[in-house]
Amino acid sequence: MADHPAQYDYRQAKVPEPLTPEMEAQRREKQRAQRAQRKQQAQEQEEKRRFAALSDREKRALAAERRLAGQLLDTGAALTNPRRCWQCGESLLGQIPFCYLDFSFCSTGCLQTHRRGRPGPP
Ligand SMILES: [Zn+2]
Repeated sequence: MADHPAQYDYRQAKVPEPLTPEMEAQRREKQRAQRAQRKQQAQEQEEKRRFAALSDREKRALAAERRLAGQLLDTGAALTNPRRCWQCGESLLGQIPFCYLDFSFCSTGCLQTHRRGRPGPP
């Protein structure tokens, strides 16, 4: 059908859309890209969850010790992005974070939640 678009009445014969090898490759490429994107999103979710679950001490170490984070990354144990909201783990890359002391947050809500959860004077 792709080679002879005008030879037959494909619509009447109810033949589906023509599929050239190029179109097929294009479709496969698109599916591959979608799969990669989904995988990346899943990884980001996992990393976000892992970061949020860390103790303040561990987060501080991650944020301060990029070199260490890089080393840990080689073993697959660490995070690709240590710049995250201290409270929920949301990535702060490309964002202007909300800060108090040496903590950074994606939103004032996260900041306040974190501040409330800490001992000592407000
Ligand atoms: Zn947050």
